[in-house]
Amino acid sequence: MSIVTEERDYQHWIDALVEEAINYWGKRVSKIDCSCGLSVSGLQHVGRLRGEITLANTVMQQLRQKGLDSKHYVVRYTSDEWKGKESQLAQFPDPTKAKKYVGRRLVDIPDPQCELGSWVDRYWLDFGPYLDYFSRDTTVVSTNEIYTWPQMHELIRFTIQHRERARKIINKYRVRNPYPKDWFPINVICDACKRINTTTVVSVDLNAYTASYRCDECSHEGTTSIENGKLSWRLEWAALWKILDVGFEPFGKDHATPGGSRDSAKEIAETFYNFKPPVPYANEWVGLIENGVDKGDMGSSDFNGFTPKTWVSVAPGEALRYIYLKNKSMKRITLGLEYIPNYIGQYERAERVYYQIDLPRAPPLEIADIRRSYELANLDPLPEMAPLQVPYLHAVLLTQIIPEENLPDAALEKLTETGIIPKTLTDNQRTSITTRLDRARSWVTSFAPASYRIITLSAPPDGLRDTVPDELRPVFQQLHDSLNPDEWTEEAITTTMRKLTESMSKDTQRGFFEFLYQAFFGTDKGPRISTYFAFTDSLLIRDRVKYLATLPK
Ligand SMILES: [Zn+2]
Repeated sequence: MSIVTEERDYQHWIDALVEEAINYWGKRVSKIDCSCGLSVSGLQHVGRLRGEITLANTVMQQLRQKGLDSKHYVVRYTSDEWKGKESQLAQFPDPTKAKKYVGRRLVDIPDPQCELGSWVDRYWLDFGPYLDYFSRDTTVVSTNEIYTWPQMHELIRFTIQHRERARKIINKYRVRNPYPKDWFPINVICDACKRINTTTVVSVDLNAYTASYRCDECSHEGTTSIENGKLSWRLEWAALWKILDVGFEPFGKDHATPGGSRDSAKEIAETFYNFKPPVPYANEWVGLIENGVDKGDMGSSDFNGFTPKTWVSVAPGEALRYIYLKNKSMKRITLGLEYIPNYIGQYERAERVYYQIDLPRAPPLEIADIRRSYELANLDPLPEMAPLQVPYLHAVLLTQIIPEENLPDAALEKLTETGIIPKTLTDNQRTSITTRLDRARSWVTSFAPASYRIITLSAPPDGLRDTVPDELRPVFQQLHDSLNPDEWTEEAITTTMRKLTESMSKDTQRGFFEFLYQAFFGTDKGPRISTYFAFTDSLLIRDRVKYLATLPK
């Protein structure tokens, strides 16, 4: 089968999903809105950028490409109760005192650091403002606001009026703990203790839109606006679909179990509110790696993970989108900040494959998948010509050997001298290289494993040359002689090195490099030596190599 035919057979899973969504709603559909739900129960980690942001937003963009109207709602579940898990309590200076907040709405919990309006504001801070690095044109809404919308009032009135019918449906999913006959499908806030999870509604006045309740926690009895309350969870999910007219919504795999909450919300939509629920789509979690160890799935209320703010401080958003789009959504992925150069490397390899700079020896379907994933990962229209690439590890090295006050100019100069970038740059190219240098610097300072951090020595360690074995001295002399200061590029140096080392035994090779690293950094390992040489003054390099070749006096 020829490459062309195989590529024609290829379909990216996102494209298949978009097709499925259109088929589900019928070929004549003109609008499919996408949605996702986020409970702001704590750390808003990058795992939440997978289904909720990257997947939903890419589907939205592809629907728009096909001429449909589409929005991407990011629904913050701010009316949910704060559970006061140990990890949540630990955010407060006095965790014991914070216990009094248990059972209140998330939006009613104060900021543990006492600077912002609420708990929600605090943990949204490192997520919401960074969404544009990972998506386009999202519409953020919060459930506590939606409860004040007139159309939500109307739906809740309907729900209360027909609550017996709702109860029968929901109780099928609550066999062990069914709701009693006098049940009201809403939770309201206790005016006295502010909790939303301890009140029992005893009657409602649908004209005044109020509910009378008694509080099981503080025994308070009162009447309050239903606006500050919330629908019982399974009803709420279906109600939000209806209010926002959701056509497509991915959700975490925990909801996907047969007879689970997704199934119940689906039944409520179909048989209680009488509408067609969104196209279902479950996705897997994202695990956290730290120091090579899998720390389990990232979790908001467990404060396990890292935020989009951290990601963009060290890497472009597109590199994460690429990972999320290249891997099918039911495959578990793990992420660790220590592997940032690998992630960027994968993304930039895909870029070279896309622009046919690299022609990898891989099956045609895999190449097609890399190309389409790259194309989908990019938020802005792709330029005709491949963007300029400065390898991340080059930037990591440069920001360590050039004093901070000389960045970025001295680094740009080095990159030009060594032929990695052209002499004249467009403003965009300059900005993108400067951003890369900033990110590399942040990464090496905060997250890089020790092996990536170097300290360049101004002189070789005392007595190092006394320990150079006799058979290596002529090799260093040869290296000194063959390093040409007039051709000081990474490529030329790599060629010289290869010629010199290719016939060596593994052991000799190891010894050779160890002495070089010792001479420059005082360690046995270090960055790619030819890259380091290229970025450093040829005189200094050749002098130091000469030192290794010289017999002690
Ligand atoms: Zn109370």
